[in-house]
Amino acid sequence: MSNDKPVRVRFAPSPTGYLHVGGARTALYDFLYAKKYNGTFVLRIEDTDVERSTEEALKMQIQDLSWLGLKWDEGVDPVTLEDMGPYGPYRQSQRKSIYDKYAQQLLEKGNAYYCFLSDEEIDAQREQAKKEGRPPQVNSPYKDWDLEKALEHKKTSEVKPVIRFKTPDVKKDYLLNDLVRGEVRFPSDMVGDFVMIRSNGMPVYNFCCAIDDALMKLTHVFRAEEHLSNTLRQMMIYEALGFDLPQFGHLSIILGEDRQKLSKRHGATSVNEYKERGFLPDAMNNFLALLGWSSPEAQEIMSMDEMSQQFSTERLNSASAVFDETKLKWVNATHLRALPHNELWQLLQPYFDKEGFDLPQDSDWQDKALSLMKTSMETLKDGVELFRPLSKGSFSLSEKASDVLSWEPTKRVFEKWISLLNESDNIDEQGFMNMQNTIKKECEVKGKNLFMPIRVAVIGQPHGAEVKLLVPLMEKSELLERAQTALNSCT
Ligand code: GLU
Repeated sequence: MSNDKPVRVRFAPSPTGYLHVGGARTALYDFLYAKKYNGTFVLRIEDTDVERSTEEALKMQIQDLSWLGLKWDEGVDPVTLEDMGPYGPYRQSQRKSIYDKYAQQLLEKGNAYYCFLSDEEIDAQREQAKKEGRPPQVNSPYKDWDLEKALEHKKTSEVKPVIRFKTPDVKKDYLLNDLVRGEVRFPSDMVGDFVMIRSNGMPVYNFCCAIDDALMKLTHVFRAEEHLSNTLRQMMIYEALGFDLPQFGHLSIILGEDRQKLSKRHGATSVNEYKERGFLPDAMNNFLALLGWSSPEAQEIMSMDEMSQQFSTERLNSASAVFDETKLKWVNATHLRALPHNELWQLLQPYFDKEGFDLPQDSDWQDKALSLMKTSMETLKDGVELFRPLSKGSFSLSEKASDVLSWEPTKRVFEKWISLLNESDNIDEQGFMNMQNTIKKECEVKGKNLFMPIRVAVIGQPHGAEVKLLVPLMEKSELLERAQTALNSCT
């Protein structure tokens, strides 16, 4: 399949917005495929839509791809944004002279022509075709003009011409052996003569894409299924220019949980949002890989290395995949809990810093804290609420505690709690449970009359964090101080 030529794959985003999870999946498959076959992964920027493309979006996408660890070998440099590699420029906006050269070639060979139809004439043709139940294809009277005549006309014409590709006169089928979909047959008359270069001189996507994929010597093109309908036009351009066709793989659509195409309506669709919400890049990659691909052993949790070793186009699935956030959280939790604690702490630190938490810096404490807390953590961000009560100075009595503070047995519970604390050292989980039992017996309280006051004495509110996990992580002096504040507020 990929044996004769060195594998070269590309991700070709349009920098018109954030990096969508669907785009990230395409880039991931490119990356895994290149890794597996020791190939080259190219990042090409499709920015011919000058109105919608922005430098900011380009930087954002590069940042997100870099965060995912999908390192490319060629293309736009992730830091300087300069060209990196022998087939540049890698931004389509800088390749205009190349497109012009090939457009010229096609004009000269008679595979393309200047078309002087006005917008009104095109609309009228479409209208007529619609009435007659024909596909709305343009039938240009200029298709058989020779180039000289067209160039002469261009000098005086009011209509600025477009350059159209001339589709074959005789109907034939184009056969695509898609790596995901298998054989796809396109009758040539599915498309009419299509625009290659707009009247303002800007080339269109299908033209640029075909030229670039060929000149950049790409062997495999993985992209979203929505581009399947573009492939016929691109195949025609390849044929006319005598270029070798790469292998195409059109990846399945990603759906939301309601089985509609994944969109903002479903929640987060940008990689960046998942990053902010505390998902790990490797977990994100693992989850995305499984949207349209499966490992031969149906392994679910995989590292990048495992995935690139096992990746193959045979196991790409053409059925649409559902983006299931519950599964993503599970994948993330599994990766997160498997991290060495020092690494996990480093990843949590920015979240803690953002909140201004003051937490112990010693690694034994951090190790112990993570052992206790990580089972309650699905994302890094979950760590914020789990660790908040452990931050020095975080304690205050919440509004919600006022009811508990007025209960008759609360004061007794606080006093007993304080005296037990005074007597104890190094309280572990069991020690705390024992203390709670003692309070239960000696103060003759149970249920919420027992648990809620203790929670108020430790975290300042009657609901929330698991006190038995927090207490072993807190210093006795801190616990005493909090309990005293609570006791002083009893009404
Ligand atoms: N620039 C196109 C997009 O962002 C990519 C098309 C392709 O991969 O051929 O959808």
